[in-house]
Amino acid sequence: MTFHTLGLSAPLLDAIDAMGYTMPTPIQAKAIPFIVKGTDVLGIAQTGTGKTAAFALPILEELLQFPKRPLPNAPRALILAPTRELAQQIFEAIEGFAQNTSIQSAVAYGGVSIVTQTKALEAGVDILVATPGRLMDHMRQKTVDLSRLECLVLDEADRMLDMGFVKDIRAILRYCPAEKQSILLSATMSAEIRGLARSMLHSPKVIEIAPNKDVALIEQTIYRVAQSRKRDLLRDLIVDNGWEQTLVFTRMKHA
Ligand code: AMP
Repeated sequence: MTFHTLGLSAPLLDAIDAMGYTMPTPIQAKAIPFIVKGTDVLGIAQTGTGKTAAFALPILEELLQFPKRPLPNAPRALILAPTRELAQQIFEAIEGFAQNTSIQSAVAYGGVSIVTQTKALEAGVDILVATPGRLMDHMRQKTVDLSRLECLVLDEADRMLDMGFVKDIRAILRYCPAEKQSILLSATMSAEIRGLARSMLHSPKVIEIAPNKDVALIEQTIYRVAQSRKRDLLRDLIVDNGWEQTLVFTRMKHA
């Protein structure tokens, strides 16, 4: 399969080509034909599966098919992401895909001055990528108006819930028009995600992509130890093996 069969127009196909993508990934092949038609989508997929292009390309296509001059402060599409790093990454991907179009996008996250973001919104953008907290700041300052939103994406929704953004998300949803396309992406499918999906998606197409297979170069070992001895074990492993760079995953932040 190629990108040419997915219903994308020439400016996007040329950009995809320039970015070196030759074949759509499974989530792109499955999601793009539905999203371009305006269907709501619930995608269960992790980072690295190509999920960004899976929602960004068809949204750009929809905006291209119904071109409108962006109104001040009123984006046509909103993409919410849990962290500023992810928001920036999505924004950069969109800028790449939109390189041959006149579609305008902006990114808004906290920890940096709000002034540049406010100016960009005032000038009018088609697509806004934002973290929930900073978007709420813009909503309070009336520098963003969601009443004309045509498409909403919640990316890494499970992470947003884990980070405690549920109240912000519910508040943001209340400011969006009922009639719009919604896309929910999550790496995992929990009862909470199911609940969120039920409240925001209409007859969604559910697309589930299996996590990437283990890389054969990685050797995996399990140590069965009591909770109280985990730290000693980790220390011994690091010291005995002389590991200079170690990535440790834990269940909770404080651990
Ligand atoms: P994502 O899962 O959206 O974070 O994408 C992971 C990485 O894969 C990014 O660096 C993308 O640029 C890249 N990527 C996404 N789709 C494709 C594709 N069809 N061909 C090649 N690279 C891709």
